[in-house]
Amino acid sequence: MLGRRVAVIGAGAAGLVAARELHREGHAVVVFERGGRIGGTWVYTPSTESDPLGRDPKRKIVHSSLYDSLRTNLPRECMGFFDYPFVAIPGRDIRRFPGHQEVLSYLEDFSREFDINELVRFWTEVVRVDVEDEGKLAVRSQKINGGDISDETELYDAVVVCNGHYTEPRVAEIPGIRTWPGKQIHSHNYRIPEPFLDQVVVVIGSSASAADISREIADFAKEVHIANRSASAGTPMKLSMNNVWLHSMIERTLADGIVLFKDGSQAKVDVIIHCTGYRYHFPFLNKDVINVDDNRVGPLYKHVFPPSLAPSLSFIGLPWKIVPFPLCELQSKWVASVLSGRIALPTSEEMMDDVNNFYSEMERTGWPKRYTHNIGEYQFEYDDWLASQCGYPLVEEWRKKMYEATWKNKFARPDGYRDEWDDDDLIVLAHEDFGNLLV
Ligand code: FAD
Repeated sequence: MLGRRVAVIGAGAAGLVAARELHREGHAVVVFERGGRIGGTWVYTPSTESDPLGRDPKRKIVHSSLYDSLRTNLPRECMGFFDYPFVAIPGRDIRRFPGHQEVLSYLEDFSREFDINELVRFWTEVVRVDVEDEGKLAVRSQKINGGDISDETELYDAVVVCNGHYTEPRVAEIPGIRTWPGKQIHSHNYRIPEPFLDQVVVVIGSSASAADISREIADFAKEVHIANRSASAGTPMKLSMNNVWLHSMIERTLADGIVLFKDGSQAKVDVIIHCTGYRYHFPFLNKDVINVDDNRVGPLYKHVFPPSLAPSLSFIGLPWKIVPFPLCELQSKWVASVLSGRIALPTSEEMMDDVNNFYSEMERTGWPKRYTHNIGEYQFEYDDWLASQCGYPLVEEWRKKMYEATWKNKFARPDGYRDEWDDDDLIVLAHEDFGNLLV
C-alpha cells in the first residue's frame, strides 16, 4: 500500500472526514481552510455579503448560508457519521433536530476525537491547483496573517476537493426585474426575520430554506407570497397562516413595484428573497480539468473522480438531496483506499464510458442536466455501492427507514416535524447500534 501526500481543500464536514479516512489509510494529509475554524457551513455568522444577491465576483465571501434560527432538517441519529454517532449530550442542545450550534459542536468533537485539527492550516485559501509532470498537482495557497498575505506553491500526489457548494447563489431570472424598484436578497444572506417587519415579501423556491424562511418571516411581515415552481394547481392559495399565499411562479415585475404571478394575481412588493439554490464553484481549477455546465460538474466518475486525472483529483460531497455526512464518509473511504492502491479503479476509458452512459440515461429519462448530482432517488443504493467497494458494511436499515419516515413526516407536519414524529421504534434500533460503538 502506498502512503501519498494529499491536500484536502476545506475543513467542513466533508474535509474533516476525508482527512480522517486519508490519515487512517496512511497518507500524509494537509487540510487547507480559508476560515479560522473547522465546521464550514455550520460556522454561523451574523455577517452578510456586500452584494445581497451574491453576484459580484469581487465581493468579500461569507461562507456560511445559515440563518440564526436554523435547526437541522434531518434527525440527528440519521445525520451523523457511521462510527461517531451524533448523540445528545446532557447540558447541550439535546433536541432530535438540534440547532446549528449543536452540529458545529458535534463536528468539533469529531475533529478533536480524531486529532484532525493539527492537520489543518487555518486562514489559508487554495487559489490554484495545476497538473504538473508525472501526475503531481501543484497547490498554490495564500495564508492571511493579520494584514499580510503570504503565497506558497507545493507539490502533492493528490488533491481532494471539499470546498462545499452552498456559497455561490443561483438567482431566478425574472422578466422586468431591472426596472423593479424593490430590494432583492438571496437566502445565502438571510439571517433573521426582524428586518422584514411590515413588509410585503415574495419568497421564491420550494427548498427546506424557503419553507423555514417564509414561515419565520410571516410573524413579522405584512404579507408573504411564496412563488413555487412545483406549486399544485389552484393558486393563489391562502396557507394556514393568515398572511401567507402560495403562488405558481412570477410572470414579471413592473417598474411601479408590482409583482405579477403566473396564476394571474399580483401584489405590490417590497422585497424578493431568492431561495433558489446554489452553484458549484471551483475558482482554483482550470476549466479544462473540470467544467461546470448548468450545475453539472463533469466529467466525474460516480460524482467523485475526473477520469483523466483519477485518482490524483477527487471531489467529496457533491451529491445533494441526500444525508451528507455518511455519504461523505463513504466517498472518503473510497478515495483513501484507491489512493493507497488497496482498491483499483477501472481504466480512464471505462470510467468515461460509465459517465457517458449515465448522461445518456439522464437524457433518455428527461432528467434535467442541472439535477446531475441530485441523487435523492437512489442515494442509499449509491452509498451501498461505495461501501461494497471499500469492504464496509452497507447502510443500516434503520437509517434508510428513518430517512423515509422523516420525509413522510415533513409532508404530513410541515410546521411541526422537528418536534413530533412516529418513528420512535427506529430511534431504539439506532441506539442499539450506537451502544455497540460507544462501549
Ligand atoms: P462546507 O461545510 O461548506 O465546508 C467547505 C469548507 O471549505 C469551508 O470551511 C470553506 O471555508 C472551505 N473552503 C472553500 N473554498 C476554499 C479554498 N479555496 N481554500 C480553502 N478552504 C476553502 N446537512 C445535514 O446533514 N443536515 C441538515 O439539517 C442540513 N441543513 C442545511 C441547511 C442549510 C441552510 C445549508 C446551506 C446546508 C445544510 N446541510 C445540512 C448541508 C450541509 O452543507 C452539509 O451537511 C455539510 O455541512 C457540507 O459540508 P462540506 O464540507 O461539503 O461543505
